[in-house]
Amino acid sequence: MKFKAVKGTSDVLPAESSGWQYVESVIRRQAEKFGFREIRTPIFEETALFVKGTGDTTDIVQKEMYTFTDKGNRSITLKPEGTPPVIRAMLEHNLLKENPLAKVYYIAPMFRYERPQAGRMRQHTQFGAEIVGSPSPQADVEVISLLFHTLQELGLSGLKLRLNTLGCPKCRPQYREKLVGYLKPKLPNLCEYCNDRFLRNPLRVLDCKVDQDKFDDAPEMGQFLCTECRDHFQAVQDNLSVISIPFVLDKKLVRGLDYYTRTAFEVASRHLGAQDALGGGGRYDGLVEELGGDPTPGVGFGSGIERYLLAMKNQGVKFPEEKRTDYFIATLGNEAKIKGMEIGTQLRLKGYICEQELLDRSLKAQMREANRLNTRFVILIGEDEIKKGVVTIKDMDGHSQRVVPLNELVEKILGAAKQ
Ligand SMILES: [Zn+2]
Ligand SMILES: [Zn+2]
Repeated sequence: MKFKAVKGTSDVLPAESSGWQYVESVIRRQAEKFGFREIRTPIFEETALFVKGTGDTTDIVQKEMYTFTDKGNRSITLKPEGTPPVIRAMLEHNLLKENPLAKVYYIAPMFRYERPQAGRMRQHTQFGAEIVGSPSPQADVEVISLLFHTLQELGLSGLKLRLNTLGCPKCRPQYREKLVGYLKPKLPNLCEYCNDRFLRNPLRVLDCKVDQDKFDDAPEMGQFLCTECRDHFQAVQDNLSVISIPFVLDKKLVRGLDYYTRTAFEVASRHLGAQDALGGGGRYDGLVEELGGDPTPGVGFGSGIERYLLAMKNQGVKFPEEKRTDYFIATLGNEAKIKGMEIGTQLRLKGYICEQELLDRSLKAQMREANRLNTRFVILIGEDEIKKGVVTIKDMDGHSQRVVPLNELVEKILGAAKQ
């Protein structure tokens, strides 16, 4: 029997992991620059957290969650998105009592039972960030800037920021009512998906990829905004302009989650196909209270690292070169192998990348291996060398070699490396 990775999951193989590490290091550096600190929540949570937090009208909760009953008869769900667990953790550990403002980020796997497609896997990895406690439009702009500038730092160009506002509990109901009146007569001509969404969350009908073109004359949230929401949205736009992040207003951008209020945004790449989003988010001023905390504003985003990597590949972004091996220790015979072990250990203690032969190959095959590893120096210990108490050091770039007494080796090597 042969096993395969489960549909919608994939392995990150050694040849690909340096790309991942690079992207993650850029993310961490960017997050640190803004003063975000990392939070790590469990892979799974109580199912109710997502039903309440993500919202039971969403596609995620209705169709996409990996939910199971554990042996203690608890309903458990692999996390499909990062925000509800983060808020749960903040409330559980009283982070917001210690400090009224919390800024956190995470890099974590998420699980959604969706139709797998390029860069969209059932297990995928998200970089997300949240600012909890600030109602300021500048907090919105800060999370947008973190996402946008991280993508830029990774070398991605052709980025598009789409921006919308969804209003607040004060002004959204009037808009919703108007929208329901507008959509109702259209329903027979809309897809099943639209009809389903119309009952659960009419705003999300506008999101339909099939029928989107039919909604050009839909009522606009902009006409219903209360003064506070209008001012907030204007301030977000003004601040984005000041820091030169270009954006387009997209009144059809409603995002897939129930908890968004006011700002909703999405960052997309011109180097992805029709599904061009790299990440998105928005403000969620009602969520903390919904999950049992005091009324507390929040804003954040989630983004897919597989999508980053796909966009980088499509765009031909160069990753930094992998570190080369400083030393390969080629040995022949048992005594040489033991000597090699000793020398290798000393070199690593000094901070060098050092590999030694583990397959007992011929010296010729070992030299080929050293070449494949792009090794800087080979330390050769054959039977002859052991007899004379020396080693041969081959400079793989200069194609020269010299013989060094064993007892002076490490010192000599350090000298040579400094040249
Ligand atoms: Zn409002
Ligand atoms: Zn539709």
